[in-house]
Amino acid sequence: MRITRRTLLLGAGAGVASVLLASCTPEPTPTPTPTRTREPEPPPGVPAPAGSIRSTWTTDPFALGAASFTPVGVLAGNRLALGESVDDRVFFAGEATDEDAPGTVRGAISSGARVAEELMIPASSGERVAVVGAGLAGATAAALLAERGIEVTVFEARDRVGGRVYSRVDDSWPVPVQLGAWLFGEDETEVLDRLTSGDVGIVDLAGELWRGPDGDIDPVDPQPFAAAITVAQAAPEDSSVADALTAAGIDPADPATAALLAILVARTGADADRLSSWFAPPLPSGEPKAARDSLTPFVEHALDGVQVGLSSPVALIAYDDTGVSVRLATGEALSFDRVVVTAPLGVLQDRSIEFDPPLPFSHRGAISALGMGAIETVWLRWDEPFWENEEAIWHAVGADVAIPTWINLRPATGENVLVGIVGGAAAAEFAELDEEAAVEAALAALSLYV
Ligand SMILES: Cc1cc2nc3c(=O)[nH]c(=O)nc-3n(C[C@H](O)[C@H](O)[C@H](O)COP(=O)(O)OP(=O)(O)OC[C@H]3O[C@@H](n4cnc5c(N)ncnc54)[C@H](O)[C@@H]3O)c2cc1C
Repeated sequence: MRITRRTLLLGAGAGVASVLLASCTPEPTPTPTPTRTREPEPPPGVPAPAGSIRSTWTTDPFALGAASFTPVGVLAGNRLALGESVDDRVFFAGEATDEDAPGTVRGAISSGARVAEELMIPASSGERVAVVGAGLAGATAAALLAERGIEVTVFEARDRVGGRVYSRVDDSWPVPVQLGAWLFGEDETEVLDRLTSGDVGIVDLAGELWRGPDGDIDPVDPQPFAAAITVAQAAPEDSSVADALTAAGIDPADPATAALLAILVARTGADADRLSSWFAPPLPSGEPKAARDSLTPFVEHALDGVQVGLSSPVALIAYDDTGVSVRLATGEALSFDRVVVTAPLGVLQDRSIEFDPPLPFSHRGAISALGMGAIETVWLRWDEPFWENEEAIWHAVGADVAIPTWINLRPATGENVLVGIVGGAAAAEFAELDEEAAVEAALAALSLYV
């Protein structure tokens, strides 16, 4: 992969123009290792962590959310509509366009493969194609197109590749800090195989702990919850997950049900009153797997040999029946035969990429109908553990905490690292906290496990 850091001189095809892509856009949050004005106040029994890093995807201008979800009353067919090409010139990929596995790594990779197939129908070898976004969808599409003789240029707004896959490698941390995707179901064998064949180590997250204010409680039985969703999925009209539970006589506010909902919300980014029960993903079953190595080389490998312009946010895509012009935020414009847009749904909803002419109604309708969910994560490390249990996944039940789900990396890696995950409106609130308040809220949630 040729990654340009300061400047990249690109020919714009057929001698039309050469432009200078200035690399001047700083990486937005989520990154901070904060400079603290005051140390967070740890609650009794929870020592101050030796290090903390958290995500803020909700406010990140190149994501504006974590994962797309299907809101109640919206058909998942909108994802297919979004994935349709416009006049065989403008193509769309990205997790939001995948009907089978939206909001996941699997969906992103599969959308990249789909768009490459579709684009090759009208295209011929030697054409110039722009790919907007160097996340998994963009990297997959770019690799497959380059393999078929297309001259591919990737434009990435950030100063790194990977998008919502973001492994921060820092000497002070014993493991890469995964601020985006890193967890997989045990049934996601194809993705897991790809990762392991790309030298990404995978660990099992074994054992669950359900903890209430008065101590450990029995594991919450997911069966009635799952049955309520199954019944709602057979109904003639869609209902929200919250309404589906209520209709089955299950109170969504009941502590055990709320604990199950927290898992679903951390997976989809959508609260139960917004999420369609028709298209809700099932609760995870079996032992989850986690990437223990950086995922960045995996994305970089896909982009080997492809021209990538970093810090190159695309501002305008103009198209007609002869080709496409891609204009960057810095003002330069380049000509291509076709373009593949993989920017996240949040970015499309924000209209920070303009289309000229405007996208067809079916695309605009899909962009506004689908939802962009919020998921945030916080990584904390200690020199010595303050907890004793050896379960990998901790669920808070009946406790009013900012972070209801924690992953204990100690059993799988031997490292004293706890990872908090929160979804939905609570995640958006967490993203708004300043660094000290965020760490304090995380430590307060952990006082349940002392
Ligand atoms: C906190 C969090 C946890 C997650 N956990 C998991 C998990 O455990 N398992 C799982 O399977 N999935 C998980 N996901 C979802 C998964 O990360 C995404 O579905 C997937 O990475 C999306 O890939 P993509 O290529 O569609 O989009 P992205 O990775 O977002 O790629 C799009 C790219 O477009 C770039 N871009 C945006 N605007 C512009 C512009 N104007 N010009 C140029 N480039 C632009 C972005 O910077 C980005 O690099 C998680 C997501 C988050 C945020």
